[in-house]
Amino acid sequence: MRKITVAIDGPAGAGKSSAAKMAAARLRYLYIDTGAMYRAVTWAVLTERIDIDDAAAVKRLTDALQIRLEPGPHLCRVYVGETEVTETIRTPYVSSHVSSVAALAVVREKLVQLQREMAASGGVILDGRDIGTVVLPQADLKIYLTASVASRARRRFLEMHASGSTETLEAVQRSIAARDDMDSHRELSPLRRAEDAILIDNSELNLDETADVITDLIRA
Ligand code: C5P
Repeated sequence: MRKITVAIDGPAGAGKSSAAKMAAARLRYLYIDTGAMYRAVTWAVLTERIDIDDAAAVKRLTDALQIRLEPGPHLCRVYVGETEVTETIRTPYVSSHVSSVAALAVVREKLVQLQREMAASGGVILDGRDIGTVVLPQADLKIYLTASVASRARRRFLEMHASGSTETLEAVQRSIAARDDMDSHRELSPLRRAEDAILIDNSELNLDETADVITDLIRA
């Protein structure tokens, strides 16, 4: 069966990464978590204390960064140079800054180019905010995965608690809503559903069921 190119977009916490990873593992596709790439740049900007209003400094840093994704069965490991940042990039500190860094033209130019190169082989599932609209407008299959903000917050809260976080459900919901707002209203590549994307609302579906729907669409 011919392996295709799949774009999955949607708001924060819709379970895109988990479902995409599961579908990719079942079909032996490569999974590319583009949000992790924006998070990795954000981590580097914060670690190097770069002023995000200094476009030249952000560009220098972004151009020099070696971001590596190592997709595994449960986790996509993320490295910046030799430093593993898989967990650090998911902290509330990075989450609260990522939308501002992702809105910068110098960052998007570099990451979009990298993502296109990574997807060139086909047999890939990319998830993000602008995959179907900007990164791969010619993708064979486009999915827009969403859910109510309450169910997205509840899921993210449970995930974070499983890994030891003490954030409250209200704080998680506020952070998700703030990120959605910034991601949907930014000037460059705002989050929106591509006209030809299939809409899936998984408010009432669990992870396995969401992965089933995606797998079936890819196989169809
Ligand atoms: O997918 P995740 O929630 O980890 O993405 C983190 C952030 O990265 C998003 O809130 C958004 O600001 C940015 N992002 C983006 N474009 C993408 C993927 C993520 O702007 N393709």
